[in-house]
Amino acid sequence: MRFDVITLFPELFAPFLACGVTRRAYASGQVQVHLWNPRDHAEGNYRRVDDRPFGGGPGMVMMAEPLARCLAAIRADRAEAEGAQAPLVLFSPVGRRLDHAAVQGWSAGVGAVLLCGRYEGVDQRFIDAHVDVQVSLGDFVLSGGEIAAMALLDAVARLQPGVLHDDDSHQLDSFNPALDGLLDCPHYTRPEQWQGLGVPAPLLSGHHAQIERWRRDQRLLVTARHRPDLLEAARARGQITRADEELLARSRALL
Ligand code: SAH
Repeated sequence: MRFDVITLFPELFAPFLACGVTRRAYASGQVQVHLWNPRDHAEGNYRRVDDRPFGGGPGMVMMAEPLARCLAAIRADRAEAEGAQAPLVLFSPVGRRLDHAAVQGWSAGVGAVLLCGRYEGVDQRFIDAHVDVQVSLGDFVLSGGEIAAMALLDAVARLQPGVLHDDDSHQLDSFNPALDGLLDCPHYTRPEQWQGLGVPAPLLSGHHAQIERWRRDQRLLVTARHRPDLLEAARARGQITRADEELLARSRALL
């Protein structure tokens, strides 16, 4: 899968692409990331990519023409067949908030062209002409779309087969509807005693079934406490068993 990132700050991506478990996905080309700077497609001595907003007011706006040229270069480089173009994604507070279902969608597709806005944003005429989908990270304002692009790339890369050390690992992560869509259970590691605090006994028992039951119970309790909406959705999908309901009923006083 191939992602083309349009950014005025491609240098931000170098350390991101070189670190952590996802590094292998980028290095092997399993998730190809190509960086494009609209400045390289701007005209004139100053290679201008932004200008003042019509109507006045603070800040600058990303100009349509350098973006259009940059996009044309990407389309040519991708050598896409007519009608099979990768979607152009603009990161913006306007967009739908990124979630697990959307990440799964992206991770099963052909990739995308990711446009990172800067300044006050992008000339609306370019958005109307070329953007297929807008994606938001949440109800707050970033200085640029780069962090949002990295969030999407990271979440997509870790879902690719072989990227995490243990292939089952992401199956057990939070939000996986194929499992139960619940939040993950708490985790503990050595030492067994830390500042007078121990580790829940089932995890030390060596009994596989007991450990699995404890983990399941914790997923249920953590989700009931922090994200009851996810528990409701799991119920609607028929993923909450009678034993689960009994545990939740017994624990109601603790929630
Ligand atoms: N004037 C805009 C904010 C511009 S911030 C407004 O008030 O809505 C500059 C760029 O940062 C945006 O073009 C967008 O690409 C990115 N950005 C800002 N907030 C974001 C968010 N919540 N999610 C995704 N991208 C965001």
